[in-house]
Amino acid sequence: MSADCLFCKIAAKQIPAKMVYEDPDVFAFEDIGPQAPTHLLICPRKHIASLEDVTDGDELMLGHLQMVAAKLAREKNLQQGFRTVINTGQNAGQSVLHLHLHLLGGRNMRWPPG
Ligand code: AMP
Ligand code: ZN
Repeated sequence: MSADCLFCKIAAKQIPAKMVYEDPDVFAFEDIGPQAPTHLLICPRKHIASLEDVTDGDELMLGHLQMVAAKLAREKNLQQGFRTVINTGQNAGQSVLHLHLHLLGGRNMRWPPG
């Protein structure tokens, strides 16, 4: 855990969030500013600042995030489609420096993203 990290504090239940999934390695909760009818954030418990900071040992965890996204998409009835996104760094608009996968669904989406 990183002492100053918002998502580490959510994982530790020091800051409230609408948790939708938890296991020993990963947790997921509702985004506080949803950009779609379903907007969840799926995070590793291990503090990693961004996708730029992953190492070889993080392969399983990265796959795990996508597997949890697929499971939550089924639970949220997103059979019409959904999007998973990892924003990395300044140009991509990453605002929280704890790796997280966005799961967005429940509306039509445009491509390319903004
Ligand atoms: P990113 O911009 O990719 O780093 O995504 C960070 C996301 O965290 C944004 O979509 C925010 O709305 C969301 N967020 C920020 N603070 C909270 C919070 N306390 N609880 C839930 N989601 C949050
Ligand atoms: Zn953290």
